Amino acid sequence: MSKTILVTGGAGFIGSHLCEKLLNENNNVICLDNFFTGSRKNIEHLLGNKNFELVRHDVTEPIRLEVDQIYNLACPASPVHYQYNPIKTIKTSVLGVTNMLGLAKRVKARILQASTSEVYGDPLMHPQKEEYWGNVNTIGIRSCYDEGKRVAETLMMDYHRQNNVDTRIIRIFNTYGPKMAENDGRVVSNFIVQALRNEDITIYGDGSQTRSFCYVDDLVRGMMALMDKDDYFEPVNVGNDGEFTIKELAELVIELTNSNSKIVYKELPSDDPVKRKPDLTRARTVLGYEPTVKLRDGLQKTIEYFAEIKKCK
Ligand code: NAD
Ligand code: UDP
Repeated sequence: MSKTILVTGGAGFIGSHLCEKLLNENNNVICLDNFFTGSRKNIEHLLGNKNFELVRHDVTEPIRLEVDQIYNLACPASPVHYQYNPIKTIKTSVLGVTNMLGLAKRVKARILQASTSEVYGDPLMHPQKEEYWGNVNTIGIRSCYDEGKRVAETLMMDYHRQNNVDTRIIRIFNTYGPKMAENDGRVVSNFIVQALRNEDITIYGDGSQTRSFCYVDDLVRGMMALMDKDDYFEPVNVGNDGEFTIKELAELVIELTNSNSKIVYKELPSDDPVKRKPDLTRARTVLGYEPTVKLRDGLQKTIEYFAEIKKCK
């Protein structure tokens, strides 16, 4: 049966893919965004769809809507953007999820919170299992994001226990793909944009830090599977468990783009996690989730996207 589904942050990178998939499954989708990092361009092709509605709104303010499900994705995700106005970032996580939980409670909607591998901070357990409580600095430059997302998880569990709200928590690991903004600032889009322009590829630190990169289609599939799973309230890691150093990523991007770019090394930002890789056992057993897109293939698709944008300029 078709549902009415609210996607906050729906004009962003992941949100715009999610809106598209939900519409393909014959749902009515309300995309809510304040366009801080999202763009109308990401959802332009959906505007003519009679089942799609766009609302310009800031999640830090309450809103009254009638919906069956809420995906709460509104929050800048790139360190460059979430550190631009850190006070606003933590308000977006904490007030945003409080407003959405209030809405979920009032209309009895199921709500999924986009949490993050950042709740593990600079992890001392590797790979990271959901049971791990993390190693997070409360007063550093990443704290506005990490701690905001941790409080959001707490609020989700408390609304569930106290008010019986039907909550889901997904811990998203580094996700990439088409529709990332050119100026997003995260590593995959930075390296691809630099390589396509034959500019220097900027590695922060010595490039030995690791990340596990998930292609957006896999992530969105996992996210929808969690939303549709009945009676599961614990957090679930979703991502890809292939682990790469940032240096390996830079070399792969140079190879795939045939670029003349040179690698340059810049200062490592403080609190930058040394390694990160999801333990996906829970996603596999609870959701039957399996990442399917290899880094090389996902990068190829993302490179094609950025090359196309460049041509249109
Ligand atoms: P993004 O920056 O492309 O999207 C975020 C969207 O939220 C944008 O459209 C932005 O305009 C909107 N937004 C920000 N503040 C808002 C506010 N106050 N009110 C309304 N809208 C607001 O980032 P993304 O990569 O698509 O991330 C989406 C969600 O997934 C975020 O919550 C992020 O924390 C989470 N996440 C993403 C990743 C990743 O690797 N992409 C990893 C972990 C978690
Ligand atoms: N990074 C880098 N060059 C860049 C952007 C990022 O070397 O131009 C590094 C960054 O320091 C981190 C890793 O790549 O170690 C992933 O950074 P990103 O901002 O994509 O995500 P996060 O640190 O939140 O995982």
